[in-house]
Amino acid sequence: MDFIPLASPDIRDADIELVNQVLRSGMLIQGAYVNKLEGEFRQITNTGAAIAVSNGTATLHLALKVLGIGPGDEVIVPAFSYVATANVVELVGATPIFVDIDLATFNIDVAGIEEKITSRTRAIIPVHEFGLACDIASVCVLAKKHNLFVIEDAACALGATQNDQPVGSFGDFGSFSLHPRKSITSGEGGIITTNSPAFEQKLRQLRNHGIEMEGGKMIFEEAGFNYRMTDIQAALAYSQILRLQTILKDKQRLAEIYFNEIKREGIVLPYVPKGMNHTWQTFHVLLGEDLDQAHTIQALRNENIGVNYGAQCIPAQKYYLKKYELDSATLFPNALRAYQKGIALPLYEKLTDKQISAIAQKVNKL
Ligand SMILES: *Cc1c(COP(=O)(O)O)cnc(C)c1O
Repeated sequence: MDFIPLASPDIRDADIELVNQVLRSGMLIQGAYVNKLEGEFRQITNTGAAIAVSNGTATLHLALKVLGIGPGDEVIVPAFSYVATANVVELVGATPIFVDIDLATFNIDVAGIEEKITSRTRAIIPVHEFGLACDIASVCVLAKKHNLFVIEDAACALGATQNDQPVGSFGDFGSFSLHPRKSITSGEGGIITTNSPAFEQKLRQLRNHGIEMEGGKMIFEEAGFNYRMTDIQAALAYSQILRLQTILKDKQRLAEIYFNEIKREGIVLPYVPKGMNHTWQTFHVLLGEDLDQAHTIQALRNENIGVNYGAQCIPAQKYYLKKYELDSATLFPNALRAYQKGIALPLYEKLTDKQISAIAQKVNKL
């Protein structure tokens, strides 16, 4: 069997042709395709505005900037996610406050949020981990009660819904990534959604050096960033987003093969609660007691299957451990378990049913 990488974007001739069109036009920076891509995101997420930026982390950073969150403020984040979710809180000088996850869904344990809220808490960044919607409706109820902002980290979850409402439309902001590991890609890229015209204006301004146009004149209203997306990147993602529903359907079909064919005792398959849909950015399983994570990853790689661990227990990472000295084993046991026992299996549009079956058989032989 040829090597199957953990992830590989499905770039088609039509995608390449559209990128070529942009290259031939000479209009390379933020322009027509950025606008088109923003329009598609606005529709898919059913939000008032979508703003394209240079990557997913930048969307989270901008949201915190727009809210004026900084030193002395606390922001609640799940203990298990990609580190960017917490890094942006550090980046603005605020303090991430970790909440453990639910081991069935790998999403934030909503019941654990309220006890972490203090007079300094300003916002919650719930993550729709691995492409599965978290219980964002309940997070928003809590946030409203305590007057907190909600920034949905939907980096992995374009197209996910809770009770048919798209993620990215529940909170004050929805944050999406277009990294090649996500369902559609622009190489690097991110989209931030919001229903607030005031937030939209600030986001567009901060994306572009803090510039506000007044009577055809540039007013430098803030010390902003260059977080713009190029039209080259936007054309690549725009071409793919037009077939998003097909991509998600294909991934669902492949996931079902894993569900039907992985029978290895002790391995816990993903769980999708009622009312949620999973977009399968990652097919993440938990290993049984008898399977060591590093050995299992190596064993499957030896079989030409590119598996890896799924996400990080963030407070256990070097920077966070040194700064906050939190004992994850007692404070975030589920996050630590997911970090130490979770593995991600390949699942993407380019794989065939046969390849998924072959992977399932190798997993059964572990
Ligand atoms: C991918 C990812 C990000 C960061 O996105 P980039 O585009 O790589 O900056 C943030 N949060 C989560 C949960 C992610 O999976």
